[in-house]
Amino acid sequence: MAALQPGATIGILGGGQLGRMLAMAAAKLGFRTLVLDPQENSPAFQVSTDFLIADYTDNKALDEFVDRCDVVTYEFENVDVFAIRSLQKRVPCYPGPEALKVSQDRLIEKSFINDLNIATAPFTVIDTRSDLEQALSVGNGVGILKTRRFGYDGKGQVRLSPDKPERLEHAFEIIDTAPCILEGLVDFEREISVIAARSIDGDIQLYNPAENVHQDGILKTSTVPADISVESTNIAQAMVEKLITALDYVGVMGIEFFVTLDDELMINEFAPRVHNSGHWTEAACVVSQFEQHIRAVSGMTLGNPVRHSDCYMENLIGSEAKNATEIATRSNTMLHLYGKAEIREGRKMGHFTTLT
Ligand code: AMP
Repeated sequence: MAALQPGATIGILGGGQLGRMLAMAAAKLGFRTLVLDPQENSPAFQVSTDFLIADYTDNKALDEFVDRCDVVTYEFENVDVFAIRSLQKRVPCYPGPEALKVSQDRLIEKSFINDLNIATAPFTVIDTRSDLEQALSVGNGVGILKTRRFGYDGKGQVRLSPDKPERLEHAFEIIDTAPCILEGLVDFEREISVIAARSIDGDIQLYNPAENVHQDGILKTSTVPADISVESTNIAQAMVEKLITALDYVGVMGIEFFVTLDDELMINEFAPRVHNSGHWTEAACVVSQFEQHIRAVSGMTLGNPVRHSDCYMENLIGSEAKNATEIATRSNTMLHLYGKAEIREGRKMGHFTTLT
């Protein structure tokens, strides 16, 4: 695909905060955006050139969407792989369906990563209640049951241990409705992530690893630089290059790692999209992850991901958004609110990044 020229239209499937930040970055580069999302009042609608309110399976709406776009991208990983394959026949879609397919199923994802000789948490396939009983009896009764598909922010997960027998029933209920895996509990020292970008012609650019803290399975803070050795940084970056190349990926990807007490690195999961743990790049890098993604999918040269400042990013979840007025008065702090009218518990309302 020849690089798109200013004025071209980038189609974005998904109108949440990630779609919103992608639309803002696209506008900065002179592109128009068309966002499709089933929800009225989607955050991205406020900043996109135009939007379509329609279900992702609405073929008539998808026809119109494709007709009006020069390239299609997306802000979430549960886009239907078949839909992308079919859209791809009419308009370039980045990232392509392979990365989507792999990332949508934890079993396929972990197997793909292990086949590249990269470690993940140990795991067992769980299809039935007796699979779980057996897996727990072989281990020490400890593990995290996760649905293979459609889990995010800790949803569809149960932490099992002998001192919490009451959780087993909940795990059984999940197994009855969806194929699962049981992951061994990793005794990690810290969690890090790398935001990576790959262009259509295979150039790869990586941001510095961020150190992440999760609360109740949801990202709370990212701090850069991460408190890891140069060697660990190099190993993590080499793993990311291997993964993103093996997927023949185009766009920005977020890759999350566990760093164990012995400094071993394991990939927890990757997301084929811009990532919450890369929001800091908006304040501490000349080219943010959002601009980098737009550059990649529009066929432009990737930007330099160099970080000019140390920083700390914190998500504003639920009622924490009420502190926004005070946060805005802090020095060296960039506040970013997502334009969501209604505060709900566990809902990501915004974030701020402080240069440190
Ligand atoms: P996930 O949705 O799989 O990324 O899980 C959300 C968070 O739960 C991770 O960022 C970790 O903090 C924690 N977690 C997930 N899997 C494991 C594991 N196998 N061992 C230890 N902690 C985990």
